[in-house]
Amino acid sequence: MKPWAESFYKSKAWHKCREAYIAARQGLCERCAAQGVIRAGEIVHHKEWLTPSNINDPSITLNFDNLELLCMDCHNKEHRKQLPISNEIVFDEYGNVVTPPMKKKIFSCWAPGRGAPKTPE
Ligand SMILES: [Zn+2]
Ligand SMILES: [Zn+2]
Repeated sequence: MKPWAESFYKSKAWHKCREAYIAARQGLCERCAAQGVIRAGEIVHHKEWLTPSNINDPSITLNFDNLELLCMDCHNKEHRKQLPISNEIVFDEYGNVVTPPMKKKIFSCWAPGRGAPKTPE
């Protein structure tokens, strides 16, 4: 995890916001749902990616308008748009590149309703 994002992702405010957002979207991936595919969302993605300069701005970090509930596939596609890299590489919710064994760990950490995410280390 990026050090500057750590305290945000561990904050109560984010956990509450995340849970509420998942509930509001009924736990479904928004992009799949838009295509008529019912698929569980696993990651709450920030449309405007978090940076050291906006991490303390709740209108970015905790704003439902800036959030999107995505399944792993849609989330990886979203982050791959930014980097011309191989399909082997996946991203965690922090936008970090993770290796496949790591992906598994993140997957369970960030599955809806599993409680607090853990630092992927
Ligand atoms: Zn999806
Ligand atoms: Zn994301």
